[in-house]
Amino acid sequence: MSLITHAEIVARRKLAPLPPGWIVSAWKPSGRDGILVCGGVPRAVPLWGSLSGKLFEGEPQSVLVSYEDIRAESRRFEAATGKCGDCLGSGRATTQERRGRTPRQCACPRCAGTRCAPVTHPEQAHAG
Ligand SMILES: [Zn+2]
Repeated sequence: MSLITHAEIVARRKLAPLPPGWIVSAWKPSGRDGILVCGGVPRAVPLWGSLSGKLFEGEPQSVLVSYEDIRAESRRFEAATGKCGDCLGSGRATTQERRGRTPRQCACPRCAGTRCAPVTHPEQAHAG
C-alpha cells in the first residue's frame, strides 16, 4: 500500500502553496485519524568530522492527512491513470516481516499483480 505516496500528494495540496524544494521529512501514523506528514525545505549543513546532514529552514510544517483523504486520492489516481492505486501500477507490494528486517516483494494484494485498477463499484463508495 503506497499510503505515504498518496498522503504526500494530499499534504502538498493542503499546505499549498509550498516553497520550491519542499520535501517530506517525516511521517507517522496518528492513531485512527490518519497520517501526520511533516516537511520543510532542507538546507545542507556541514557538521563535525565526516558527518553531514540536512537542517530544515524554520519550523517544519506538519499536516494531518486522514485515511479518508488518502482513499479519495487513491481513487482519484486510479480514475485518472487506470493504474492500481495501491501499488501505483507497479504490480508489487512490499511486506515487512515482523522478525526480519528485509522487506520482501510480493504481488500487490489489491490488483493481484495485474497493475490495473480493479473494477470499483461506485454505489458502495458512499455506503459508509
Ligand atoms: Zn496493485
